[in-house]
Amino acid sequence: MFDHYRSEAGFALLAVRAAARLCRRIQDEMVSPAMEKSDRSPVTVADFASQAVIARMLQGAFPDDPLVAEEDSTALQATDRAQTLSAVTFYVSSLQPEANQESVYDWIDLGSGEPEARFWVLDPIDGTKGFLRGDQYVVALALVEEGQVVLGAMGCPNLNKNLRPEVGGTGSTVIAVRGQGAWVAGMDGGKPTKLQVSGQRDPKQARLLRSFAAEHTNVAKIDQLIAALGSRHPPVLMDSAAKYAVLAVGDGDLLFRLLSLKRPDYVEKIWDQAAGSIIVEEAGGKVSDLAGRNLDFSRGRQLTDNLGVLASNGWLHEPALEALRVVGADRRPEGS
Ligand code: AMP
Ligand code: MG
Repeated sequence: MFDHYRSEAGFALLAVRAAARLCRRIQDEMVSPAMEKSDRSPVTVADFASQAVIARMLQGAFPDDPLVAEEDSTALQATDRAQTLSAVTFYVSSLQPEANQESVYDWIDLGSGEPEARFWVLDPIDGTKGFLRGDQYVVALALVEEGQVVLGAMGCPNLNKNLRPEVGGTGSTVIAVRGQGAWVAGMDGGKPTKLQVSGQRDPKQARLLRSFAAEHTNVAKIDQLIAALGSRHPPVLMDSAAKYAVLAVGDGDLLFRLLSLKRPDYVEKIWDQAAGSIIVEEAGGKVSDLAGRNLDFSRGRQLTDNLGVLASNGWLHEPALEALRVVGADRRPEGS
C-alpha cells in the first residue's frame, strides 16, 4: 500500500488497533448506564492503558523515536493511584504479559518525550466524553518530521468499516501517509479502501460537523456560519477526531473547531489534530486554522500560532473562510 514509511505505517496500524480493541473492552466492561456521572474511572483506566500499550510497542519498534503523548503519571497520582494502577496493569497485561505495576508506570511516562525533528504524537483516547457516553472516541497516533505530519493513524471502535457511526459494530482503522493517500480498513484488518472527500461545491448543501460538547465550540456561531453559508443542513454533532474520518470518507463537507466562549484563550493540542489533519488532506481535503493559516506542528505540544481548526473537502474551504470572517469567528475576542 505504501512505498514510503512502510514499517512506520505497519507499526502504527498494529498499535492503534491493539489500543482501540483494549479501549473497547474497557468500555464494555467498565462503562455502565448506572454509572455516576462524575465517575471518570473507566476513561482514566482506558487512557493510561492505551498509552502504556502504544508506548511499549513504539519502544520495541522505534526505540530512538520520542513519544509526545497526552497523559503522564502525574495525572495518575491525582487519581486513586493504587486502584487505577492495578486496573491499568490488569488490562495492559492482556496484551503485554510481562507487564507489572512498575513497568506500566514507566511505559506511560515514555509519553513524556519532547517534540524534536522526528517524533510520534499520541492521544490515547480522544473524545473522553464520547467514551463515557458509549459513543464516539478514537485512538490517534501520528508521526511528525520537521514540523510536518507525515503519517497519521486512528483506531475508531464505534465507526464501521464504511466510517458510519455504529456503536459496538466492527470498528475501523484509518491510516494516511503523506503523498500516498488515506485508507480505511476494519478494526481487525481486511482489505483497505482508499478515502476520498466529498465533491460538494455548493455551500447551500454543505454538511457541517462539530463537537458534541457545546463547551468545546461556540454553538451560536456554528448556527451563524450555517446561515452565512446558506446551508440547509443542521450540524452533525460528534465527539472526537472521528469527525475527521467522517469528513475524509465524504459523509460531511466542513468541520469547524471554533473557540468556546468560556475559553477564549484555548490553544489546540497537537495530539488532537495531527492524525486527523493528514487523514483529511490525504483524502483530498484541506485543513487550516480559522483564519486560513496552515496548522504549524513545529511549535511544541500546542498549535500556538493557530486559532481553532477548519477542515473541508477543499471545494468549500474558501466559502467557509469567508463565512468565518463574516461571523467574526476568525479571530480571538478582544482582551483574551
Ligand atoms: P471534541 O470531541 O471534538 O469536542 O474534541 C475533544 C478534544 O477537545 C479534547 O481532546 C480536548 O483536548 C479538546 N478540548 C478541551 N477543551 C476544549 C475547549 N475549550 N475548546 C476546544 N477544544 C477543547
Ligand atoms: Mg483529545
